[in-house]
Amino acid sequence: MKLDLLAIAAHPDDVELTCGGTLLKMAQKGYKTGILDLTAGEMGTRGTPETRAKEATRAAKILKVSWRATLGVPDSDVQPTRQHKLQLARVIRELRPHTVILPYWEARHPDHYHASTLGYEGCFLAGLKQLPIEGEPFRPFKILYATAFEGMPPTFIVDITKQYETRRRAILAYGSQFRPAKSEKKQRVFLAIDELDARMDLMARHHGQKIGVKYGEPFLQKELMAVEDIVGLPVRSI
Ligand SMILES: [Zn+2]
Repeated sequence: MKLDLLAIAAHPDDVELTCGGTLLKMAQKGYKTGILDLTAGEMGTRGTPETRAKEATRAAKILKVSWRATLGVPDSDVQPTRQHKLQLARVIRELRPHTVILPYWEARHPDHYHASTLGYEGCFLAGLKQLPIEGEPFRPFKILYATAFEGMPPTFIVDITKQYETRRRAILAYGSQFRPAKSEKKQRVFLAIDELDARMDLMARHHGQKIGVKYGEPFLQKELMAVEDIVGLPVRSI
């Protein structure tokens, strides 16, 4: 399968939370999209890997994602090791994505910043001819970093106003993470569903407002943006 866009992240639900609206928007434009979860999220406090796998499949369907898989890196131990990089490079050669979305390279959770490095280096290695793996050498054209949880100014924001409700449903598909079982009620709830909902809304509104729309998702790229038509630029200045 050849993908136009592949989002890579450490845990199932990371992609939905940071760039789910954008993935859906691109699928609606006719692009073939995919999600690669590096781990199965087996260290999560709630939900078994089996439940999380079912939830991830459901969420992918809601976001019209054509391909989703787990790389099999151990949760809470995502490291850019040679072995993991080669595993990832093999997937990149197989899917040949034009654009790849990675987590931003600084984060609180070590899995998230390691996922960023592993993602970048896996994409790089995939292009080396002498690599001891199968497949034709290939490198994605563009690498973007999802910065929804980070404070730095993004390079651009995607308007996801029309996709927001569907993205919300995809996030809520992860019931085991956000809807504690009755027996669990007395424990401290890490992130209850109503709080998650409010936080998602606030974050997407915050980014949307910066480009004059209701909801948005922010991205950063290391390169500068080239502009062809400065008269046609969007987002009002005054
Ligand atoms: Zn995560």
